[in-house]
Amino acid sequence: MPRSPKKPCAYPGCPRLTDRRFCPEHEKLDRDRYNKYERSPDVNRKYGRAWKRIRDRYAAAHPLCEQCLKEGRLTPVEEVHHILPISQGGTHNASNLMSLCQSCHTKIHHELGDR
Ligand SMILES: [Zn+2]
Ligand SMILES: [Zn+2]
Ligand SMILES: [Zn+2]
Repeated sequence: MPRSPKKPCAYPGCPRLTDRRFCPEHEKLDRDRYNKYERSPDVNRKYGRAWKRIRDRYAAAHPLCEQCLKEGRLTPVEEVHHILPISQGGTHNASNLMSLCQSCHTKIHHELGDR
């Protein structure tokens, strides 16, 4: 039975032949890297490296909780909320952000059915 032709490992500079993308050694390396950097559950990864900067800038421009403001209360911003969650295709654009205090933020997520 003919075997599929082997090609060089896709890892730069690796001369080993493989019928997959990487030789076994580099396949493992690639998987580790994927797990470490792409699957990490931390917020930086979830929202991207730039998020903290965007959040700080947005909070500086919108220093009061926008929900409280609508109800006539002046409450300092504590968290910046994504109106359309990143997980549902939302972006970090200012039009998708909202300055909220802790209690308004909790309330909004509660109404959305999140934790
Ligand atoms: Zn290799
Ligand atoms: Zn509020
Ligand atoms: Zn939120």
